[in-house]
Amino acid sequence: MEICDRYGRTIVDIRVSITQHCNLNCIYCHHEGYHERSNSVKRAEMTAEEIQRLVSVSRRVGIKRVKITGGEPLLRHDVFEIISKLSKLKGINEVSLVTNGVLLDQDTCDRLKYEGLKRINISLDTLDSQTYFDVTRKNMLTKVLDGITHAQNSGLNPIKINTVLLKGINDTRIREFIEFAKKTGVILQLIELMTFDENNDTFFNRYHVDPSPIEEVLEGIAKHIEVRQMQQRKRYHLNDGTVIEIVRPMHNSAFCANCKRLRVTSDGHLKPCLMREDNLIDIITPIRRNVSDEEIYQLLLQAIALREPFFKE
Ligand code: SAM
Repeated sequence: MEICDRYGRTIVDIRVSITQHCNLNCIYCHHEGYHERSNSVKRAEMTAEEIQRLVSVSRRVGIKRVKITGGEPLLRHDVFEIISKLSKLKGINEVSLVTNGVLLDQDTCDRLKYEGLKRINISLDTLDSQTYFDVTRKNMLTKVLDGITHAQNSGLNPIKINTVLLKGINDTRIREFIEFAKKTGVILQLIELMTFDENNDTFFNRYHVDPSPIEEVLEGIAKHIEVRQMQQRKRYHLNDGTVIEIVRPMHNSAFCANCKRLRVTSDGHLKPCLMREDNLIDIITPIRRNVSDEEIYQLLLQAIALREPFFKE
C-alpha cells in the first residue's frame, strides 16, 4: 500500500547506505548527509540480514526501489549477498547501486548483474587524470574508465555517470562529458553541488556552479526534454541519442515537492531528508531486539511523518 507523507508525497524509494568507509576522499563529499560522530559508527554497520528485514517491511509503506550507496558500497565484502537478498524480495522492482567505480573489475560487474542488480551509477567528475587526483586524492581514473566498460560488458545498462558540477574544475568541460556520453552510450547526470549550510561553507561558495546556463544550452540543442517524476529532474535527449539529466537540489522547491525517498544510514537510522541530521530514527536497536514487523512498520511510519520538504515555495 502506498502511504503519503503530510505533503502528499508517496514514498517509493529507499536509499540505503551500507558503509561509511570509502577508498576515495572527494573534496566535496556530503557523506549522504550523515557525519560520523564517533568511530563506533564505522563498526556498527547493519548486516545483510538486517538490511533485508528493513527493506522487506518497508514494502508495506510502498517502497518499490532500493538504491545502495555508502561510503563506497563495493568495499563491503558481503555486497553481493545484500544485492541478492534485496533483489529476491517480491515487490522490489529495482535494486541499483551508486559507486565510485574503482572496484568494478569484470568479475565484480558480472556478479553484481547475476545477483540481480538492475542499474548502476558511477561517479566521475573529470576525464583528466591530474584533476581526478585533485578531486579524489587518488590516481584511479583509468580504473574507473575500465569499470564503466566492464559494467557495460556485463549488461548493467543503462549506466549513469554522476558528475558533480564544480567551478574551475569541470564546469568549462561539459562538452567533453557530452562527447564521452555519446561515445560510450552512458547517461550523463550533471549534479548541482550541495551543502547543508551555505552561509558557512567557503568550499561551496567557491565551487558551486549554477546549472541554469548549462540548461539553456541543452534546451537549445535537445530534440526532446522529459521531466521525470522523481524530483522533477529534467532529461535532455539530443538528436544523436545522447541523454543528459540535470539534478538541481539547491533552493529547488519542485525537487523537494517531488522527493519520494527515504534514507537509511549505514548504522541503521531512518533519515527522512538528506539535508537534515536532527530527525533520525533509530531502527537498528529495535531490529536487534528482534521486535515484530509491526513495530518496524510503525517506526517507518514515524519517519515518514517527519518528512518535510527542505526547500519550500
Ligand atoms: N562512493 C560512492 C560514489 O562515489 O558514488 C557512493 C557514495 S557518494 C556520497 C553518492 C553520490 O553523491 C555520488 O555520485 C557523489 O558524486 C554525490 N555527492 C557527494 N557529495 C555531493 C555534494 N556535496 N553535492 C552533490 N552530490 C554529491
